[in-house]
Amino acid sequence: MRKQIAAANWKMNMSYQDGVKLLDDVLSSKITLTADQQVIFAVPFPYLIMAKSEVAEETNNFIAAQNCHHKEAGAFTGEVSASMLHSVNVRYCIVGHSERRAFFNETNEMLAEKLDSCIKHQITPIFCCGEALEVRESGTQNDYVSRQLEQSLFHLSAEQIRKLIIAYEPIWAIGTGKTASTEQAQEMHAFIRSLLRGKFGSEIANEVPILYGGSVKAGNAKEIFACDDVDGGLVGGASLVADDFIQIIRALK
Ligand code: PEP
Repeated sequence: MRKQIAAANWKMNMSYQDGVKLLDDVLSSKITLTADQQVIFAVPFPYLIMAKSEVAEETNNFIAAQNCHHKEAGAFTGEVSASMLHSVNVRYCIVGHSERRAFFNETNEMLAEKLDSCIKHQITPIFCCGEALEVRESGTQNDYVSRQLEQSLFHLSAEQIRKLIIAYEPIWAIGTGKTASTEQAQEMHAFIRSLLRGKFGSEIANEVPILYGGSVKAGNAKEIFACDDVDGGLVGGASLVADDFIQIIRALK
């Protein structure tokens, strides 16, 4: 079975103290994860080491950075590289979240470099893709997402793709309370998997987890995660409330 993953994206939220409490509250629920289930907490940079020690004893719980720079090192004030993340034992990183594409001008080409850097430093990228509302309304979402994948992922080898997690996040559903229907989610996830199959073969396509992101809540997670090609979720707002995120974890297949 493919890995089933509940990934929390805290974004730029939570004080350090609130973050410690949130992790304590989620972890104290002692959810027993199966070998195929994982929980990942993508926390702000200053909290990574704290979060790492919080999850240290918990099986199948991991931490992630929310971003990294695409270059190895140098005069990039305020930035953090994949090699730095590796040096503090961070093994996951969100790459290409739509907020970074929109507010920090991240391009598909730049994201290809970020993926290379993550993979070089043994960090599993959680690669985000997804279309804006006007693209969905024009019915060209498949072309749009396919271009994102081609330009950022398709230079990778099959062995490298195998190390990836993909998150399909329709921008119109992020933080809006509007969720894609299960049909829309399944259709796009199956399409993404078909692109992977075409480029890298069936074995790899069947292995790569594809998470859904966009207003996943305690009340809708089970239905969304039940879709054949949905392997869990990347969760923003609802991951900031312990009880909600606990229910989302419990909704994993
Ligand atoms: C996200 O930030 O990746 C996200 C999906 O946010 P939300 O769950 O709040 O829509």
